[in-house]
Amino acid sequence: MSFSSLRLSKHLQKTLAENQYLKPYPIQEQAIPIIRDGKDLLAIAQTGSGKTAAFVLPVLMNLFEADVSINRHIEVLVLVPTRELAVQVNQVFNLFSKTLPGRQQSMAVFGGVSINPQMINLRGVSILVATPGRLIELHESKAIHLDSVKTLILDEADKMLNMGFQKEVDQILALLPAKRQNLLFSATLNEEITKVRDLILNDPIVVKIEPKEDNIDLITQTAYHVLPEKKGPLLRHLIKSQDMKQVLVFVSSTVSADKLEEKLVKNGIEAKATHSKKSHMSRVSALRDFKAGHLPVLIATDLISRGIDIEFLPFVVNYELPRSPKDYIHRIGRTGRAESSGEAISMITPDDLHHFKVIQKKMKKWVKLTYSEDMEF
Ligand code: AMP
Repeated sequence: MSFSSLRLSKHLQKTLAENQYLKPYPIQEQAIPIIRDGKDLLAIAQTGSGKTAAFVLPVLMNLFEADVSINRHIEVLVLVPTRELAVQVNQVFNLFSKTLPGRQQSMAVFGGVSINPQMINLRGVSILVATPGRLIELHESKAIHLDSVKTLILDEADKMLNMGFQKEVDQILALLPAKRQNLLFSATLNEEITKVRDLILNDPIVVKIEPKEDNIDLITQTAYHVLPEKKGPLLRHLIKSQDMKQVLVFVSSTVSADKLEEKLVKNGIEAKATHSKKSHMSRVSALRDFKAGHLPVLIATDLISRGIDIEFLPFVVNYELPRSPKDYIHRIGRTGRAESSGEAISMITPDDLHHFKVIQKKMKKWVKLTYSEDMEF
């Protein structure tokens, strides 16, 4: 299938080609016609599946055809869990809307930064990408009206609920017109998502895209048995001995992230931690430097890393194992994309041994365990 059979205008097709979107990904092939038809959709798809363009393209086409340019109210509302995702989704809207006639203005709003500039810039915006808390603040300050919303998109809804946004989401739903198109995107279909589905979707069509587990075969996985107090020295040893120039290190809490940053920096290794307690500016600059190759070590928690679209990474380290095997697969999937193979390294303490077995069983792959106690570092 090609993009030309998906009822997208020639302007969009041109932008797609210019940006090397050569053919639709499965989620796009399936979701675009449903959204174009104005139906409700439940899409189970991961970051990296191409889910953003799967809703951005048809939503823009629907707006373009409805010709709402005279009436610039918020027509499309996208709720996202994090600021990073808000910025990313907005970028995709901008990329594709800039070449469409009657250009639809989109904007990202999120907390952690001053509200005033956002209030001023809201004029003329018809597509709003927002984190729930800031959206409510803007509504309470009477800076926005949500009574013209015709399409609601919940992106990474599972994460939004995991982060405790249920109350805010309910509050926002009550502000929207009852008649609207609803699109629910989630990486997993759990009990909470089922509840949201029943609450907001009207006779939805369900699209499920299985994550590409075959990616795992491209990844070299290594595990080191290590005592908790030896993890820092082992990480430093690996960074130096393997001359790692770009490594994403996963930890399980903001406290561990900060501690590890301090330890590495103290030992002369340039590293930054990024997590929900850091300021927006610090998160953006750490990520930018890391992506550009100026910062060799980025330490992150799962929540922060999930929505971030980092292209191929040569190294990923599980400094602390995630609780869920899915998160493990997601983490290591950051490396070994397309033609390139990467290395995922996990640090396994004696207490982790059982859990690591569970992860391997779920992944259907066994990882050789090297005893760091036998190594010199
Ligand atoms: P997403 O899952 O929306 O975060 O998209 C993951 C990445 O895939 C982004 O970097 C997109 O630019 C890219 N992408 C999405 N759709 C396509 C496509 N059809 N062809 C090539 N790249 C794509």
